Amino acid sequence: MSNLEPLLERNRAFATTGVHEGQPPNPNRNMFVITCSDPRVDPAHLLGTDYGDVVVMRNEGGRVTKDIIEQLAFAGVLLEALQENPFPSGEVALIHHTNCMTAFLADDNLRNLYADRTGADEAELLELAVIDPVATVTHDVAVIRAAESVPQLLTISGHVYDVEPGLISTVLVDTPSKEHRDIG
Ligand SMILES: [Zn+2]
Repeated sequence: MSNLEPLLERNRAFATTGVHEGQPPNPNRNMFVITCSDPRVDPAHLLGTDYGDVVVMRNEGGRVTKDIIEQLAFAGVLLEALQENPFPSGEVALIHHTNCMTAFLADDNLRNLYADRTGADEAELLELAVIDPVATVTHDVAVIRAAESVPQLLTISGHVYDVEPGLISTVLVDTPSKEHRDIG
């Protein structure tokens, strides 16, 4: 029997609660969460978010790739157009985690196999490995801040989720510079 049917049953129960009614597309908490697609790192569980609270962007490792920057830029343009209270005052929370499977990209054999199958560049794959989540989350907060297409009034924070105690530790909080606040 498929695992899908019980989940669809939950959806039908959800639809009867009415919590979705009138929910706008912009996030209630004006927050974007970027993290790994690992099933242990689902923000709805880790952060106890409610329906419509945050925009979630996930990929392998929660790394700030070109795609993530483009999504943030798109959201910035869209939300500025949609709401009078401008998006640039929002927040981005970036969460990397321990025991991340992207660490296998540092294994020569596995990386080579994956590169062969996908045509990806091996050096670029190696850079995506999350072995030291404090280091990678610090690096990636700086990548978002440096991206000119992303609204500069965002507060960008970096965190590490330790899968063993189930706790998130904040590594850094990058607030907009005075220069950017004055422009905004
Ligand atoms: Zn991961």
